[in-house]
Amino acid sequence: MERCCDMAILGGGCAGVSLVRELLRQAGSRAMPRVHLIEADAGFGVNKTWGFWHPVDDGPAVPVSASFSEWTFSCGGRVRAHRSQAWRYSVVEARAFFDEAVALAQHHPRVEIHTGTPVLEVIDGGDRVKVVTSGGVWSCGHVVDTRPPERARVDYSRMLQIFLGAEIVTPRPYDRPGVGLMESMGCDSSGFHFDYLVPLDAGRILVEATRFVAAPPPRERLEHDLEAALQRHFPEGGHRIVRRESGVIPMGLPAGDGPASPRIVEAGSRAGAVRDSSGYAFMDIQRWAVQCARAILEGGLPMGHPARSRLLRWMDGLLLDVLVAHPDRAPDIFMSLAGRVAPDAFVRFMNGTPRPRDVLAVMKALPAGLFFGTIVFSGKGRRG
Ligand SMILES: Cc1cc2nc3c(=O)[nH]c(=O)nc-3n(C[C@H](O)[C@H](O)[C@H](O)COP(=O)(O)OP(=O)(O)OC[C@H]3O[C@@H](n4cnc5c(N)ncnc54)[C@H](O)[C@@H]3O)c2cc1C
Repeated sequence: MERCCDMAILGGGCAGVSLVRELLRQAGSRAMPRVHLIEADAGFGVNKTWGFWHPVDDGPAVPVSASFSEWTFSCGGRVRAHRSQAWRYSVVEARAFFDEAVALAQHHPRVEIHTGTPVLEVIDGGDRVKVVTSGGVWSCGHVVDTRPPERARVDYSRMLQIFLGAEIVTPRPYDRPGVGLMESMGCDSSGFHFDYLVPLDAGRILVEATRFVAAPPPRERLEHDLEAALQRHFPEGGHRIVRRESGVIPMGLPAGDGPASPRIVEAGSRAGAVRDSSGYAFMDIQRWAVQCARAILEGGLPMGHPARSRLLRWMDGLLLDVLVAHPDRAPDIFMSLAGRVAPDAFVRFMNGTPRPRDVLAVMKALPAGLFFGTIVFSGKGRRG
């Protein structure tokens, strides 16, 4: 038997669940279309922690675990700390984010969440879209596709951000005031690497060993990186690992073919939500979800993830070119950005909302030789 809905959201990760959350949050007394979210995983992909910047008085409506006004960078004993009175770096744990969305959806008669239901095929049928899943067939008015990008596209990314993390519980309260954004930066034969440290609460810390690489290194390499990071930051030992988190974020993902029908839009990482130069996507996805939900509730059509400004795309592409060509210079580049770009300008750039002079500050902070060399080189050689 075919099921029917006005709109199917394929994929219940950050983008899919953000859209459901926003629809439920904004609906009020307005008519809600029949929305079915179809997710492959039996639970959700809860082993994730999203960090993002937002203005102090204007954060997204998400369950924040911890929030900071300071973040640090370090390399070879040099430390740069950024502090801001205007911006916060906040952290959301995926479990809380998904649990809250499921609880909200349970109380709404027109919203259904189907987990453990991989989508097998999406067929454009003209006036309806047919979604074939392992658990049956859906006939949908519109589809918002947030499934991950195809493997072949990920394989053609210019770079991968790959990390292995551990949430640890420490015997003594952890007294660092902020986030270790890019700590102990370095470069070795496997590429550029750094540690990321987030105190989730007084005795619970997320430590992630991160690498920017052309191809995934062996698992043992990442295990070794994580062990070394734990040694570096918690030499006294006594901590206990309570959860592990790992991920691969494509940076410089090639554009896809786009949706096969005007009734399908794409969002999330498959639609370019991940920033090429940083791997950040959470805030861009929240902004899209707010706008998309508003359009739907006003009786319009769902919208796909919007394109970034040409300036930001150019700047991201340039930074990525530099990192790909000169991984050994990456620690200097990020230390220079941390030292020469004012914290608020840095954050506006990272947040995807820079003023023109912020972009100029970022450009000026890049080592001049590398920057001009890369412009000349990429002008001649960059694909796409
Ligand atoms: C571990 C990790 C940590 C990250 N941390 C940050 C961060 O701190 N800050 C930040 O800004 N960005 C971060 N990112 C980048 C980005 O925010 C995330 O990748 C984000 O989850 C992207 O959202 P998405 O909805 O596009 O993809 P996903 O969240 O991956 O969601 C896609 C969903 O589709 C489902 N799916 C797959 N195949 C099918 C199928 N056939 N049928 C149905 N469903 C299917 C998957 O199970 C998944 O739930 C992180 C990425 C990872 C991997």
